[in-house]
This record gives sequence, structure tokens and C-alpha cells, in this order.
Amino acid sequence: MNLILLGPPGAGKGTQAEALAARHGLIQLSTGAMLRATVKAGTEIGLKADAVMKGGGLVSDDIVVRIIKERIAEPDCENGFILDGFPRTLPQAAALEKMLKAAKHRLDAVIELKVDDKVLVARISGRFSCSKCSAGYHDTFKPTKVRGVCDTCGSKEFTRRADDNAETVQARLMAYYKETSPLIGYYFAKGRLESVDGMGSIEKVGADIELAIEMLAG
Ligand code: ADP
Ligand code: ADP
Ligand code: ZN
Repeated sequence: MNLILLGPPGAGKGTQAEALAARHGLIQLSTGAMLRATVKAGTEIGLKADAVMKGGGLVSDDIVVRIIKERIAEPDCENGFILDGFPRTLPQAAALEKMLKAAKHRLDAVIELKVDDKVLVARISGRFSCSKCSAGYHDTFKPTKVRGVCDTCGSKEFTRRADDNAETVQARLMAYYKETSPLIGYYFAKGRLESVDGMGSIEKVGADIELAIEMLAG
């Protein structure tokens, strides 16, 4: 099964992708995480991406399409994947369609997570993740079970993203409305989209996503 999670920054894409990957044995493909890895590696592409991400804009289609294309071709993706943060523009969606067709992969479902802007800011402000295994947390909404210790791997080191600040969030939201939200119409017209209320608890949203997948792919 191949899925796309669509939604503004902080909507819960990463959180739900992590849970879906565990429940269904799928690979989570987060272009944000992949780009942060290239930034860390200090490559030329990483340097370019870093400046754009710090400003809350979108990295060029060429770069993200290339990264995703290479990743999808790896053997572990054959059993299915969840795209978290890709596509984010209409040209990226067109490129994805082409690469899925070429690899004879089908797109089973596109899930849009709907969350109010005010809540997005609260979610982003408290977000942190494990430095070792990348498990995602929130200061208030999803704290670690034992304070300062990762539930998943036991690590005591955590990171906060440089772009998770109030000013950058506004730019990221505008990029979402301008560049990414047209994808909702694009996938709806293809009969591939279901919208899910992302305002409830992590568990409730997860259950609603399962229902939406059943409707589209079942
Ligand atoms: P995205 O990948 O869409 O940017 P995340 O999955 O990283 O969003 O979620 C943003 C923050 O909000 C994280 O700290 C996460 O723990 C928290 N979060 C995710 N889903 C919910 C939810 N349904 N209710 C409350 N907090 C949530
Ligand atoms: P969030 O989970 O808050 O939506 P991501 O981790 O998905 O954020 O992305 C972080 C940043 O990486 C984005 O603000 C953007 O600059 C860049 N990025 C990630 N995915 C893409 C993409 N598909 N196209 C262009 N830029 C991207
Ligand atoms: Zn961990």
C-alpha cells in the first residue's frame, strides 16, 4: 500500500506516518527529514536547502523530486510507503505520478489532515524529537513516558528544529496555502482523496485515517 499524508506544518503528518508505518509495515518517507540529513551532511545541496528551510520557503522541485525518486527505487520500498511532506507542489505531484507509473506502483490513498491554524502554532512550538531514533514528541500533547527518556529507544538526547519558531511558522503556513493546498483539489478530482479531522487526539485521528484508507483502498 502506498499513501500520501497531506496537511499544513504541525498537522500531525509525521506522527501519523510513524504510527501507520508501524501498524502496516510500511516505510515512512519524510522529505523534511531527508533534507535535514543533507543539511547535516554539509553537501552543496544541503547548504542551498538550509537557507530556504530557515526562511520557511519550499526547496526547489528538482531537488526534492530527485531525492524521492532515488529513495523510492530502493528495495525496502517495494512493500509500500507513506509519503510525509511530499508532494508539496503541483509539479511535484506530476513528477510523482510519472515515477509511480514507471515503477508500476499504485497510489492507494491521499489523506488530508485538517487542523486550525492556531492549533498548528501550539503544536509546532512544543515539538521535539529523539536525536537517535527520530521518534516525535510534544511538551504537552505527547510527552515521553519517563521524563527525558525516549519511549522507543531509551536515548536521553533530543532535538528541536531550527525552523519551529513563530516567525518561520507563518511563512511555512503561507507556503502551504499557496503551493500545497491546490493538491487537495488535484487528488480529489482523481478520486484518491479523503479529508480527516486532525483536531482530535492522536489515537482518534489515527482511527479516522484507518477508516479513510478503507474507503479509498478497501
Ligand atoms: P507535521 O509532520 O504535520 O508537521 P507532527 O506530526 O510533527 O506534524 O506534529 C506536530 C506536533 O504536534 C508534534 O509535537 C506532535 O507530537 C504533536 N501532535 C501530533 N498530532 C497531534 C494531535 N492529534 N494532538 C495533539 N498533538 C499532536
Ligand atoms: P513540517 O512537518 O512542519 O510540515 P517538514 O519536515 O515536512 O515540515 O519540512 C520542513 C521544510 O523542508 C519545509 O518547510 C521545506 O522548506 C522543506 N521541504 C520538505 N519537504 C519539501 C517538499 N516536498 N518540497 C519542498 N520543500 C520541502
Ligand atoms: Zn529514540
